[in-house]
Amino acid sequence: MIQSILHAFFPEVCLVCKRLLYEKEQHICLHCLYALPRTGFLQRKENELFLKLANRFPLASAQALFFFHKNNNSQKLLHGIKYHPKPNNATWFGSLMGQAWQESGRECPDVLIPVPLHEKRKKERGYNQSEALADGFASIAPSLVLPDALCRTIYRSSQTSKGKTERWAAAESIYKQNEGIDLKGKSVLLLDDVITTGSTIEACSQALFAMDIAELHVYSLSMAV
Ligand SMILES: [Zn+2]
Repeated sequence: MIQSILHAFFPEVCLVCKRLLYEKEQHICLHCLYALPRTGFLQRKENELFLKLANRFPLASAQALFFFHKNNNSQKLLHGIKYHPKPNNATWFGSLMGQAWQESGRECPDVLIPVPLHEKRKKERGYNQSEALADGFASIAPSLVLPDALCRTIYRSSQTSKGKTERWAAAESIYKQNEGIDLKGKSVLLLDDVITTGSTIEACSQALFAMDIAELHVYSLSMAV
């Protein structure tokens, strides 16, 4: 009832096509949701993302829900989860990731660790979209979210290209482990919003393996192609 009243006075629009949403729709209209290019990776262990990353560091599994193509709907989607004034778009898509994980019959990992933003960047944006994805995942597939297990030590200006940042990530240890958190022997699921070259994930994995984790799974909302 309250939902209906709120919807009548504050109708929400689809974050991709901007059309007014029906009452039962959330964040994205059904047409745009079904049009997003799904990867089908959860059904295949040796998928393209796994093969891209597995020869670079020990990896138990790698998943992405959607393919990301520049200048199409998936770009609007990623923009919507990163720059919306509130993290609720990202949390909702995180719950879709959790639902797909559950439906694939996989066990929940011991802990979820979102790829961290630098503190200054998090303050500018108001939230870390990967942390919001992890919260959404955990709302469906109960797991412990540890957003402070890793921290990012280098701030990137908005003029720096993502490719350049990823090269830095590969060359230097830009992610540091939190000494106060014990991850020894844990299975870890590392979450991100988009994987491009994989160097960010690789840099995070170095910090996580230095914490003696038992196994690493990677799950991203999207994979750039
Ligand atoms: Zn739409």
